Amino acid sequence: MIQLTTAAKLTNAINKARTVKPLVRVAKFGHYTVTNKATGATYTVECVKRDGKRFAGCTCKAGERGQACFHLAAAVGIHIQLATERLTTP
Ligand SMILES: [Zn+2]
Repeated sequence: MIQLTTAAKLTNAINKARTVKPLVRVAKFGHYTVTNKATGATYTVECVKRDGKRFAGCTCKAGERGQACFHLAAAVGIHIQLATERLTTP
């Protein structure tokens, strides 16, 4: 798992996600499956909040090494949208 601090740390991963355009499915809030449509590879991304800090982890090789992969970046983008909707809808 990596701690999510600034978006700048995810810039490379976000750019890759924009190129690859992986399919992100919401398993449940905080749990996402990310599929690379070109290769069919599917990984699970988990987003958690601990002590007010946000963490995310991916099951791919890069993710297991604690790197911000594009699966993680794609899922975090969706997660932030969902989290914002949760805060703004009663
Ligand atoms: Zn990954």
